[in-house]
Amino acid sequence: MLMLDMDLRLLLQSLIPSLQSVYVLVFYFVYLAVAGQILPGKVIRGVLLSDGSQLRYRCNGLFALTLLVAILGISAKFGIVSPLVVADRGLELLSATFIFCVLVTLALYVTGRSSSDKSSSLKPHVSGNLVHDWWFGIQLNPQFLSIDLKFFFVRAGMMGWLLINLSILAKSVQDGSLSQSMILYQIFCALYILDYFVHEEYMTSTWDIIAERLGFMLVFGDLLWIPFTFSIQACNCGWWLLHNKVELTVPAIVANCFVFLIGYMVFRGANKQKHIFKKNPKTPIWGKPPVVVGGKLLASGYWGIARHCNYLGDLMLALSFSLPCGISSPVPYFYPIYLLILLIWRERRDEVRCAEKYKDIWAEYLRLVPYRILPYVY
Ligand code: NDP
Repeated sequence: MLMLDMDLRLLLQSLIPSLQSVYVLVFYFVYLAVAGQILPGKVIRGVLLSDGSQLRYRCNGLFALTLLVAILGISAKFGIVSPLVVADRGLELLSATFIFCVLVTLALYVTGRSSSDKSSSLKPHVSGNLVHDWWFGIQLNPQFLSIDLKFFFVRAGMMGWLLINLSILAKSVQDGSLSQSMILYQIFCALYILDYFVHEEYMTSTWDIIAERLGFMLVFGDLLWIPFTFSIQACNCGWWLLHNKVELTVPAIVANCFVFLIGYMVFRGANKQKHIFKKNPKTPIWGKPPVVVGGKLLASGYWGIARHCNYLGDLMLALSFSLPCGISSPVPYFYPIYLLILLIWRERRDEVRCAEKYKDIWAEYLRLVPYRILPYVY
């Protein structure tokens, strides 16, 4: 009982943000804000909003990330920063980020409510229920100092995930616990995150950017959930592998690589096909003219196999990040299990939205492609 009390007290103490963790966060956000504005990158027009306007996104995430990793790497080499700062202060950074999420979404709520802007991206949607409006947000694409906050937060979350992983990697090298499992986990996640930034422009047509308002749910999801629970919160491989040794056989490693590669092919292939189709509905899919329903929906390629094949690919990738931990504990499988629940929920909401938007065309698409995510199963 005494031990439990002490553990709890230690846990609570490590959750109190120190000044150093606040500096880390401030440096990170300021860097991303400045780099996002000044570094060169392709400027992409977002989807057409209901008032006919289109937002512009500067897709320089890959440049910003590479530069940041280089700056941190050089600073670590010269002893200016410790590469372990994130791994050692994970809980503090987590609670500092949580406080930031609450403050920033309260500010979004207050400024959103008082906005008199009538454009689709800034028009306030106030239900009158404070908790609802704070949770789901009031404006679609609020900005701060000309920075599109939604795009900024998702970028910060994905980069944060890689930075946490790299810090965990440095810690495992330092304490001599680097294993095959850790290497596999790090390679898969790094490839996934880098790929995200190589294809950052595809993000501009995703559900979060085009349909979800910016409230606590999204800010928390981007800034805290993605980087911390996908990696460090004692839930996922990276952190778990620091304390647990796993022996992987060669067939297990090969099978793990296959799950990753097939998952990647399906995930990237499906998202790419939809993106290309939206830009030019005549572009061949797998070398053949596309099957198009009502001139608007793609029903061939991955989108002819299941209505959300991209989710299937993402789920396989998530599984490949956890398989390096073996099957002795369910703890490292937190991310794929969470993602399964999230994507089933999301797919249901998306189908309702599409049924309302496309009406008969959607019904025809359902007839042609009866499976939601996994052919013959779901
Ligand atoms: P999608 O990219 O699948 O976008 C859904 C939208 O695409 C629909 O609302 C509709 O929009 C359009 N659409 C649907 N079917 C068709 C079709 N057959 N032909 C043409 N357009 C179609 O969903 P998300 O934005 O949710 O996901 C994007 C990626 O992000 C996925 O790969 C997902 O796995 C990943 N993701 C990952 C998460 C994570 O935590 N790891 C969380 C959420 C997503 P429109 O009205 O424009 O036609």
